[in-house]
Amino acid sequence: MSQITEQIQQIKETLSEHTRLIAVSKTHTNEAIMEAYHGGHKVFGENKAQELIQKQAELPTDIEWHMIGHLQSNKVKYIAPFVALIHAVDSLKLLKMINKEGKKNKRVLKCLLQMHIAQEDTKFGLNCAEIEEILQSEAYQQMENVEIAGLMGMATYTDNETQIRNEFSELRQCFTQLRKKYFTDKPGFKELSMGMSNDYQIAVEEGSTLVRIGSSIFGARDYQ
Ligand SMILES: *Cc1c(COP(=O)(O)O)cnc(C)c1O
Repeated sequence: MSQITEQIQQIKETLSEHTRLIAVSKTHTNEAIMEAYHGGHKVFGENKAQELIQKQAELPTDIEWHMIGHLQSNKVKYIAPFVALIHAVDSLKLLKMINKEGKKNKRVLKCLLQMHIAQEDTKFGLNCAEIEEILQSEAYQQMENVEIAGLMGMATYTDNETQIRNEFSELRQCFTQLRKKYFTDKPGFKELSMGMSNDYQIAVEEGSTLVRIGSSIFGARDYQ
């Protein structure tokens, strides 16, 4: 068994039955991805549209591709034909573009709204009230080619486990509130995308349904 597959299996053993693993393959080669693929793992995440488009074109068509990074409106059209889930939607403007491209492709595009939970202000995202504003907007309510499937967030990069736990917990509380208020008749609102290599165990304990793990599977990257 390849080392990559071994890492994936070890991680999967620690996940609860409600949590799926997205192998974050950014900066890694097609060969590395194919090692995981041949080991039976077919769910991958990329954070740059350009890299995602290229890999999708070169690799098997039964791979489930997740766009996990910040997405510019002008790039939506390139990923709309195939993307399984767009994780980091942080504006109504972007959501409108996703809806438009979804329509062109005759697809309902699944999205997560990104909540800002970290202390660092370099990370993108909305607060819970801003997310609610989007959900209440006339524009969103008329969208037919977008499905909001849950929320996504990134905790502060720190060794302080209590802080990380509090941030994930804040995300989960917002998720639970919104689900009760806006999605009681929409069971598709069910995903909480949280947890990376350094903090996924805490994220799972706090209710994550999608962990996004890169370096623990593929090794360190040269750049983010
Ligand atoms: C790179 C990245 C990850 C994975 O990070 P690792 O620390 O390598 O596990 C997860 N989520 C997002 C949005 C990323 O950009």
